[in-house]
Amino acid sequence: MKNNILYNLSIINERIKKACEKSGRNSDEVRLLLAVKTVSADRIKIALENGQTLIAENKVQELKEKYEDLKNTPHENHFIGHLQSNKIKDILKYDVTCVQSLDRLELAEKIHQKLLAENRTMDVLIQVNTSNEESKFGVDPSKAIELTKKISRFSTLKIKGLMTIGLFSAETDKVRECFKILKNIQQDIICENIPNVEMKELSMGMSGDLETAIEEGATIVRVGTAVFGARIYPDSYYWDEGKTNNEA
Ligand SMILES: *Cc1c(COP(=O)(O)O)cnc(C)c1O
Repeated sequence: MKNNILYNLSIINERIKKACEKSGRNSDEVRLLLAVKTVSADRIKIALENGQTLIAENKVQELKEKYEDLKNTPHENHFIGHLQSNKIKDILKYDVTCVQSLDRLELAEKIHQKLLAENRTMDVLIQVNTSNEESKFGVDPSKAIELTKKISRFSTLKIKGLMTIGLFSAETDKVRECFKILKNIQQDIICENIPNVEMKELSMGMSGDLETAIEEGATIVRVGTAVFGARIYPDSYYWDEGKTNNEA
């Protein structure tokens, strides 16, 4: 098990390095984030004890379950799933440093209130639905700038950039189009010069498309399967969940 994970990590690091070389970027401009949904704390620890520093969960329940086992192993934890407002307190309690999946004003406002009460701040990325699929979360590209402006008024939220999942397709051109959309929004937001907004981070690219994402400017690639192996749940379980229940 250990050897597999380490071997897979070495392959991913090599892929990141090659993609950076190809696009004339320095490989320290791209950070590897391990998407650890369904992965046990034991297996996550192997990665953390061997050079990895950044993990992310999709579900608060898993964050909670693994917290005790991981808290003494140095790492940073981001959140990349659909966040329901009644779970915000757990995001704060379990030391999440960045919510990458912020996609609506009401959620931002609620996080802000909780942070204010605790006298804390938090990094966030605005999630954009670049593939225009009904099933995926994220703000519509046409509304991303407006949402960013509104969220920027919450002093506790430090906007660091944008995140997208993008299209799942074997057609690289279509996938690339999604990443270009995110990059363009980033450039537009930079031009707006919005106070309290940094636009350094572009979180895009996963196991299957990280090269394309890096060529289009990704600063964070989120990798799960290529390091830890296939998951038993379909991704729709993580990505569509909540779309049909009473949380808008
Ligand atoms: C699971 C997940 C990933 C990683 O996907 P893989 O294809 O397993 O690399 C990246 N981003 C999000 C939001 C995820 O849920």
